[in-house]
Amino acid sequence: MNLHEYQAKELLDRFGCRIQRGIMIDDASKAEETALKLTEETGTSFYVVKAQIHAGGRGKAGGVKVAKNMDELKEYANEILGKTLVTPQTGAQGKVVNKILIAEDVYYPGDSEVKEFYVGILMDRATGKNVIIYSTEGGMEIEKVAEETPHLVHKEFIDPRLGLQPFQARKVAFNLGLNGTAFKEMVKFIGNLYKAFLGVDAAMVEINPAFKTSDDKIMAVDAKVSIDGNALYRHPGIAEMRDVTEEDPTEVEAGKYGLNFIKLDGNVGCMVNGAGLAMATMDIIKLAGGNPANFLDVGGGANAKTVEAGFRIILQDPNVKAILLNIFGGIVRCDRVANGVVEAYKNIGEINIPIIVRLQGTNAEEGKKIIDESGLKVHSAIVLKEAAQKVKELIA
Ligand code: GDP
Ligand code: MN
Repeated sequence: MNLHEYQAKELLDRFGCRIQRGIMIDDASKAEETALKLTEETGTSFYVVKAQIHAGGRGKAGGVKVAKNMDELKEYANEILGKTLVTPQTGAQGKVVNKILIAEDVYYPGDSEVKEFYVGILMDRATGKNVIIYSTEGGMEIEKVAEETPHLVHKEFIDPRLGLQPFQARKVAFNLGLNGTAFKEMVKFIGNLYKAFLGVDAAMVEINPAFKTSDDKIMAVDAKVSIDGNALYRHPGIAEMRDVTEEDPTEVEAGKYGLNFIKLDGNVGCMVNGAGLAMATMDIIKLAGGNPANFLDVGGGANAKTVEAGFRIILQDPNVKAILLNIFGGIVRCDRVANGVVEAYKNIGEINIPIIVRLQGTNAEEGKKIIDESGLKVHSAIVLKEAAQKVKELIA
């Protein structure tokens, strides 16, 4: 589950990570009073307005603006709230900004230079260890840095038996070229960031920029935190931070029925019981010349209700030209699934695209018979290759 920047910063703050302070609003008319409140809390008199959407690259798309005075602050708040931001991470349709963060400007000039770093933590599957990824080249284009100058991106692996060792945090601070107060601040920042990563069961935290102020403080100016969905039950308070308006609506609906659904951009909808079989089905669709429109695992107990919900969700996608239902009758019996398909079909009413049902396993023949005798425009198959061939003919 992804969080907004303002929520991510709130979590980091709880673990003692210094953050650029800010207050979230969803009403531009509150911009001035919010800024004044922020001044009371932090003493700042310069502000930055930041769009809150679940996508990076906001700065380059006009979603982060530094205000020189109160008039500019109000102007930017009005401009950014309600605007559709298109960044490399939103897709061409962009994302509407429903919330903004009024934050303190921390880039003020001082005795010593300010600096932007990159710090991220995630789990490295190849080694089975958490890894701190960091770079001196923080700011807005870390993807480009990783591609063109990969030697500037460092990794520090954490042994799960030992946890983050103090020398490792010092190594990070050293490699980032820091000394004196800034060095100590970075060591503390890394330690607390790692505590936060573990404490909230994050799948990933990414601080870009991790910022050195002119008075040598280290703080998170931007923060992306994504929580491991399987651990959310341990954090009811964080689960409440979920913003479903930022998620794909069909994926949200599928979640309500306990369906594992991921939207893709092909033309063949698929509904399968079991994640492994779903992956294999997507491969077969590709081999047959189609493109999967989604991944959908209906789980072990495919019944009329889940099948109907699955159909309805897949049918919302105008690109879908055919649906392939691939069921292996292990725990669930194929005749039961077939009855479920017929019932779901009748409940939904007119379905204008072909449906191919492939049943294999317990009572497969009985299941096929039910489909064939239903009088519905549903094609049945027992062998997957045969089903794929039908998909190919029907989408041609
Ligand atoms: P992103 O573009 O979505 O990653 O959004 P960020 O929160 O990282 O902000 C983008 C950029 O805006 C940063 O790299 C900074 O250059 C700039 N920025 C953010 N906060 C401030 C601030 O307080 N003052 C100034 N002058 N610039 C800021
Ligand atoms: Mn950023």
